[in-house]
Amino acid sequence: MIIGVDIDNVIADTERELRRLLNEKKGLELTREHITSYSFDNVAGIERADLADIFDMFNDGDIFLHLDPIDGARETLEMLQRKHRIVLVTARPPRVEGKTRTWLARHEIPFDDIVFAEHTKVNGTPYDLFFEDQPEYARELAEDGTFVLLFDAPWNRDLVHENIDRVYSWSDVQAFCFPPCALGK
Ligand SMILES: [Mg+2]
Repeated sequence: MIIGVDIDNVIADTERELRRLLNEKKGLELTREHITSYSFDNVAGIERADLADIFDMFNDGDIFLHLDPIDGARETLEMLQRKHRIVLVTARPPRVEGKTRTWLARHEIPFDDIVFAEHTKVNGTPYDLFFEDQPEYARELAEDGTFVLLFDAPWNRDLVHENIDRVYSWSDVQAFCFPPCALGK
């Protein structure tokens, strides 16, 4: 199989660092459940202009070096890579490719290829399975016939599709990909 894997909020705990910076700079106490929009629009009355300095940190890429990996990502991808092709597909701008690769190497995240996608993650690659959290990308992939494991987040709770299963952790991904009946085979 070819498995497509998003990076931010699937492998890397990006939202937590972004929210930490926002709370620190703006004197807020936002929790994950407050972040109901992927772009942070309309979160706690914050306007996009208030976020400019924080998003600048994203644009220069240094923030990507300091993210924590999400529990279970590396171990599960190692298990999957023994049998499947792992393609990381990120909407990060291509200019942060170097810092992204440095972070992936530092945290020993296994993959066979990496794609810096623009606007859509439907790119002609016949992904059999895709791990994603961003609702628009997940919907496009699902409508294109790719089965998506959607990492649950307050910004994607409305999304339901016959080609989408919601997961809450990498343990859920393992349970989906390695069902108990397959043990020993
Ligand atoms: Mg993401």
